[in-house]
Amino acid sequence: MTRYYDDHIIEDIELRIDIIDVISETVNLTRRGNRYWGICPFHAEKTPSFSVSTEKKMFYCFGCHTGGNMFSFVMKRDGVDFKEAVQILAAKAGVKIVTAERKKDDKKTGVLNINQAAVEFYQQYLHGEYGKAAREYLAKRQISGQSIDQFKLGMAPNGWDGLEKHLLKKGFSHDEVQLSGLIKRNENRNSYYDVFRNRLMFPIFNSGGDIIGFGGRVLDEALPKYLNTAETDIFAKRRNLYGLHQGREHIRQANEAILVEGYMDCIMLHQAGVKNAVASLGTAFTTEQARLLVRYAENVLILFDGDEAGQRETLKAIEVLGGQGIKIYVTILPEGMDPDDFLNQYGKEEFSEYIKNNRISHIEYKIDRYLRLVPELDIQNKIKMINLVKGDIASLKSELEKDYHIKDLARKLMIEENIIYREFKPSGRYSEKESISRNKTEIIRDNKKCGDYAIEEKIMAAILEDDKNLNKIKNSIGLDFFTHSELGALVDYYDKLSGEILNRQQELKIWAIEQSLDGILARINFLVGEEYLNEIQINNFIQDVKRQKSEFFWQDISGELNNLNNNGDFNALLRFILDFDTALNNFQEGGKM
Ligand SMILES: [Zn+2]
Repeated sequence: MTRYYDDHIIEDIELRIDIIDVISETVNLTRRGNRYWGICPFHAEKTPSFSVSTEKKMFYCFGCHTGGNMFSFVMKRDGVDFKEAVQILAAKAGVKIVTAERKKDDKKTGVLNINQAAVEFYQQYLHGEYGKAAREYLAKRQISGQSIDQFKLGMAPNGWDGLEKHLLKKGFSHDEVQLSGLIKRNENRNSYYDVFRNRLMFPIFNSGGDIIGFGGRVLDEALPKYLNTAETDIFAKRRNLYGLHQGREHIRQANEAILVEGYMDCIMLHQAGVKNAVASLGTAFTTEQARLLVRYAENVLILFDGDEAGQRETLKAIEVLGGQGIKIYVTILPEGMDPDDFLNQYGKEEFSEYIKNNRISHIEYKIDRYLRLVPELDIQNKIKMINLVKGDIASLKSELEKDYHIKDLARKLMIEENIIYREFKPSGRYSEKESISRNKTEIIRDNKKCGDYAIEEKIMAAILEDDKNLNKIKNSIGLDFFTHSELGALVDYYDKLSGEILNRQQELKIWAIEQSLDGILARINFLVGEEYLNEIQINNFIQDVKRQKSEFFWQDISGELNNLNNNGDFNALLRFILDFDTALNNFQEGGKM
């Protein structure tokens, strides 16, 4: 098949952008195990049956059976054809399609280009003569040259229009530059001025690596200490996290994000090899940021400053993360220290040990903090404390964990465990019923997760998984046994392909989109690599098909013989014997009849 783009484009795009990012534009995804789940955008539902696998680069809805790869998703979401979906995703990935018409830069890429030019401008100043004080400051803070490069740190000069002039010289207009938030207009003087002056500059990346804004820190005691780009269309502080671009793969691997307060903390942690650290953007941690983290990991460790302000913020972050179904841990640093201080003073080994040995769950954190704050542990305060964490404990899925926290609470409050257990007993019939029905939906959902796959679907997955299976099945019973016609079509096409298994699978995926078979293929792909059929079961299936075929074969023969018996002549009988001989030979050779 001839396509208007070359074959590497699909692969290139899939390498550069993550299916999770594409789908998260529309669906709130939550990670569970190695899958992500959310409410399906293609049918109405209340419990999530829409699943995405980053590893397989595919999505599938167990409710409405819509599925495919990121191209299928964009096609279905935006109502575009495959070619347009490739164009949309190529633009997002920064992959050029030579034959495609290049769209004019829109406002967004305009601002991104300006930010990129500004980064280069600030970097020049940091590395030039002007940047001496800033470089000394960074050296004092023990930020390495490698970190400076990785996070693209820079220095804004002290003049009023250095950046403005530079950007105009590069061909950007005042209007465009103003949109980036890097310059402001002074109406009285009828002129513009640079927003960031004499500051150490921290470019802020979105998760895809575009520079969407800046944070600037003073080197002296001037105020404000930190200044951020104002909110623009592109720079929404509440929806981005510092360090996420650099750290997201590590967060995924660790299945945990470490949340810190400042840009410096984040950089220092990355530098020390703790690369799953992120920081909020000079604002309190937001629900949108929490949702962003849930896309990458099931666990968050909050590591804020050891002082009172840091601890207050910790509690707020716990409340924000609490609604997201993510496991929350807290590590409290020694009084007055931030992660940056700790690393500089004790080094990275001590640091890793410390966060390993001093992490507590958010429930323990809340209890401990409250205990520290109350002047006296009287009855009133004990009741308050139970109520404070009751909801948190009740929402735990594991009975073992619930038990642990109830005992911990009893010990700390010096109350009989039984009294606290009573607080958690469902009161009256209604709530008992409710908890039963909740359990039921949980089970249904888990069944959906593994799916009620038919045996033919499992066989198809086995064929896609390993050529050994493909050949074994093909050589014993052929490939035309599928009663499910879509599976039959897929396997036919797949069998005709040649080359590396990964290339053949990629080719099959593209063909499936063109044939509208991407849903069923995604469904099958969700089985590939899972444990579902062993060799014995595959052999049993082969035996079953053989037995079935032979039953059909003899049924045919006996039907034909009956016919001949009733109204046959000699010629008809002779033809039958010859046909029968050929058919029998075919059948015994492995059975394509
Ligand atoms: Zn659906």
